[in-house]
Amino acid sequence: MCTATITNIVSHSGWNYISCSSCSKKLKKSKSSLYCQKCAKSQSVGVLSFRIEVIVDDGKDSATFVIFDEDGSTITGATAEEIIRDSPEHVKDIPKCVQSIVGETYLFEIRIKEKDFQTSYQNFTVSKIHKHIKSTPVDSNLGNKRKEREEENQKEESENLRKKPHV
Ligand SMILES: [Zn+2]
Repeated sequence: MCTATITNIVSHSGWNYISCSSCSKKLKKSKSSLYCQKCAKSQSVGVLSFRIEVIVDDGKDSATFVIFDEDGSTITGATAEEIIRDSPEHVKDIPKCVQSIVGETYLFEIRIKEKDFQTSYQNFTVSKIHKHIKSTPVDSNLGNKRKEREEENQKEESENLRKKPHV
């Protein structure tokens, strides 16, 4: 267990993956379908899931943590499927609700594998985020930014409503 603050998101790693609906393993794409190696099924049903790589700092050291689906939903307040349904253009870009976890401090439970210690940088899988400890402003304007973001979302929402065709 460790208390650490998310200082950045490793954006080139994306924020999601297609997982097997029965075992959550990453699905492999074959010619026309998705294949799960664990279930050994070629017509696996894929579910979009969180896989967020973040840089965390515990005040002494920094490390890379990988946050998976359930915790991803807990800290963003939405499921990966919901995010993609609302903004399909964000399949590669990091959506706002994921970006907003930067600056948040959580109590993490991490899984340590032997091989983690053999790599030059420390990369840990988060097995559970136990609780939110605190929010640290990323900069002094964060409060305002939060508010702006909310207002922006509301604006987007009303624009979306307007965009709907009149029947
Ligand atoms: Zn599977």
